[in-house]
Amino acid sequence: MNFTLTEQQEMIRRTVRDIAQKVVAPRAAEMDRTGEYPWDIKEVLARQGLLGLLIPEEYDGVGADLLTACLVIEELAKVDGSTACIVVGAVDGVFTMLIAANEDQKKRYFPHLASGAMGGAIAITEPGAGSDVSAMSTRAVRDGDYYRLSGVKHFITMGGGISELFTVFAITDPSKGSRGISTFIVEKDYRGFKIGKHEDKMGMRAVPNVEIIMEDVLVPATNLLGKEGDGFKLVMQALDRARPGVAAQSVGLAQGALDYAIEYSKNRVQFGQPIGEFQGIQFMLADMATQVEAARYLTYRAAIAIQEGAKEGPKLAAMAKLLASDTAMRVTTDAVQVLGGYGYMKDYPVERMMRDAKLMQLFVGTNQIQRLIVGRALLA
Ligand SMILES: Cc1cc2nc3c(=O)[nH]c(=O)nc-3n(C[C@H](O)[C@H](O)[C@H](O)COP(=O)(O)OP(=O)(O)OC[C@H]3O[C@@H](n4cnc5c(N)ncnc54)[C@H](O)[C@@H]3O)c2cc1C
Repeated sequence: MNFTLTEQQEMIRRTVRDIAQKVVAPRAAEMDRTGEYPWDIKEVLARQGLLGLLIPEEYDGVGADLLTACLVIEELAKVDGSTACIVVGAVDGVFTMLIAANEDQKKRYFPHLASGAMGGAIAITEPGAGSDVSAMSTRAVRDGDYYRLSGVKHFITMGGGISELFTVFAITDPSKGSRGISTFIVEKDYRGFKIGKHEDKMGMRAVPNVEIIMEDVLVPATNLLGKEGDGFKLVMQALDRARPGVAAQSVGLAQGALDYAIEYSKNRVQFGQPIGEFQGIQFMLADMATQVEAARYLTYRAAIAIQEGAKEGPKLAAMAKLLASDTAMRVTTDAVQVLGGYGYMKDYPVERMMRDAKLMQLFVGTNQIQRLIVGRALLA
């Protein structure tokens, strides 16, 4: 497997690294403290085309591949998990449309998503349907040229006030179980579409997660994605594609915490010498770096496999998400340890990185679910 980056990938990575260091890093602690969405940073990302990375050029996107998106996400996550989430959200928000949208839907929505004028969100999870997606109860009933959608989704990233477009999964035929789920493009201004509770989260504080309440929302039938009953397959395909991006976010968080711990251990003096000269600290740093590097290569391998449509793509994507997110949790926790008591204080970034890292083990399928996917693929 060749991981040599193309000239365009190198250029995009350099540009994003520059934005991350100069624009995002100085704001990260404040964003975490206030929990306010960084509109100005979003504009910077939009101007660079980073919100339309995967959207084809013919619809005003960058037309980049998944590995490029992973590189962008990793660079941003090194300094701030929330800002990386903005790009993760933009990438995840278009997978279902990339797979299933017809020409009319692509023309209507892709240029607005690519420019950042519209934000996209994906609404699968419900209070009673988390890991078990097929347990969802949101209903879509055909009514002439429309569907009427009713139900509640929750934990939706980039909801409330940030996104204009929601990919919503709902049951069109309750007699068919998971084969009765369909997918709809829902605009936030449709009558009966409301934003409910805003979650107060442990980490990723600058990104809103909200409840969505739909009461008889009239959605034009032209906004059905694919065919009725395609929804479950579409969720699974979209999640397969989303996992390398979350793995990249995890690698970035881990690398950022490791870099900080290395610099700190060169400067903090105890017992008359920098703590980095103690073998106990060196061994920790060595283990952290080894784990990050392993997670990075599996992430890139999974991104390329998914991009190429390889048969083992979904298994590799689940493995990458599992390894990288567990690595992010371990490495950020160890970074706090390297900083000692200072690591526990909000004056230093590693405690934020540790809180942000926890989410990586939970969303786009918990790590227990990733193990199930890998286990089933091995035994198939
Ligand atoms: C910050 C955040 C952002 C999110 N963003 C979105 C979003 O944008 N859109 C969206 O639709 N959803 C989103 N989610 C929802 C997320 O995908 C779910 O939280 C996740 O899938 C788990 O569902 P649950 O929380 O209901 O946990 P549950 O499914 O209730 O799981 C509880 C525990 O049981 C375990 N478990 C469940 N089933 C099994 C099994 N078969 N075998 C072994 N263990 C199992 C789980 O691993 C977990 O440890 C987000 C969640 C969070 C926290």
